[in-house]
Amino acid sequence: MAFQKQHTLKEAISFEGVGLHTGEPSRVVVQPAPENTGIVFVREDFSPSVEIPAQVDYVVDLMRSTTLGMGEVRIHTVEHLLAALVGMGVSNARISVWGPEVPILDGSAKPFVEAIERVGLQPQKAEQQYYVIEEPVHYQDKQRGVDIAALPFDGFRATVMVDYNSQVLGMQLATLVRWEDFPTEVAPARTFCLLYELEELYHRGLIKGGTLDNAIVIVDRHYTQEELQRIGGLFGYPDVEMVPEGVLNNTPLRFENEPARHKLLDLIGDLALLGAPLKGQIIAMRPGHAANIAFLRTLHKLIQKKKIIQRFQRTPTSQNVVFDIHAIRRILPHRYPFLLVDKITHFSQDSIVGIKNVTINEPFFVGHFEDNPIMPGVLILEAMAQVGGILFLNIVENPQDYWVYFLAIDNARFKRPVIPGDQLVFKLDLLQIRRGICKMAGKAYVEDKLVCEAELTASLVPKKTIHGESGSASGHSNQSSV
Ligand code: ZN
Repeated sequence: MAFQKQHTLKEAISFEGVGLHTGEPSRVVVQPAPENTGIVFVREDFSPSVEIPAQVDYVVDLMRSTTLGMGEVRIHTVEHLLAALVGMGVSNARISVWGPEVPILDGSAKPFVEAIERVGLQPQKAEQQYYVIEEPVHYQDKQRGVDIAALPFDGFRATVMVDYNSQVLGMQLATLVRWEDFPTEVAPARTFCLLYELEELYHRGLIKGGTLDNAIVIVDRHYTQEELQRIGGLFGYPDVEMVPEGVLNNTPLRFENEPARHKLLDLIGDLALLGAPLKGQIIAMRPGHAANIAFLRTLHKLIQKKKIIQRFQRTPTSQNVVFDIHAIRRILPHRYPFLLVDKITHFSQDSIVGIKNVTINEPFFVGHFEDNPIMPGVLILEAMAQVGGILFLNIVENPQDYWVYFLAIDNARFKRPVIPGDQLVFKLDLLQIRRGICKMAGKAYVEDKLVCEAELTASLVPKKTIHGESGSASGHSNQSSV
């Protein structure tokens, strides 16, 4: 079901019930939305109402479920509804919510999927954008044994493995290989928890809306009937019993591997927070909401970086080049003879590497010095700052609207002279960003030998406010408009 076009619902669908964690009653109405809206939650019981886009940037809490928030406003347990929407191919929807949490209903995404099937999808004109995995991305949390990988694949596939080291809930696998199977194979899998967790969760004030109708309770060791009754009593089921499959419930399991399938459902719901359906293959060992979101943040950072790079680097580069000289000229306002960066070979949110080839034709060698040409130390710092200025691409949305001014150069050391024929390699690490002021640690190397190091502090100054002013006490400004 890899749609070419965006889709929304033909009509609104609505649900009512209690939230699993808050126990509060709530009402949800999922309404059709225009092209390119994406999925947006709206807390309608606030005045004015509060819109929270279903995007990873708005995830605020991962205690047993995924919670979105803006300011003080929260919407808990969004993952099953999101899984239903993305699993059924809904690109745009406005989800009005009255209450703090999406109702848990039967603990699965089945009621949502059935409602979507009932009203059907409305194709829209705009193309569907996909989040395409172009290279393997890996997330690991060794302590928890979590391992999530995304691999390139022209479609969507996901495999989840769970292993709770318990006799009842040993290793289980669940796989989705085509979206067509989602409504029957994944959506009906209900949320679950282990019996030993129940009391703890109860006393921590979680799962206030938990009942034996909306969650599978897995009995992970031997309990006496008295223990079972005591725990059951907390949830209003004093006469609860354990059935032979190790499940505390009168409802039979919907699938032998229902817990693994539910983890797959949760993963699909969390992936929806990327803001576009994913093209790729996901393999997740022991995933949970916290790991899923950490993984999404990794993916999100990569896509942000790629977007930034594509904006300036418009032609393919040779390997190991992120920005070539043409891209650098689009980013920095410097021109000959004051553009002192030839290429950028590494660029991330908090570090950058740039290269300057120093030739005998550099204008500064004419008089510095005639018989002993060495590169002026302050120009090495200037080149370092120009490389560092490119890091600001991560911080401002419209970098063309700002100048970057030096505020300070600290601990500058010049270790050895730089002469014609040298290749200067600048490595800068971001130390701190606060209120548009950015501190970086820079090092310059020639053939792996340190030639210069310094800590640079620079500030972003909007272009329209600074005509003629200098942002630096020393009067030296590197003016990297980035
Ligand atoms: Zn879940």
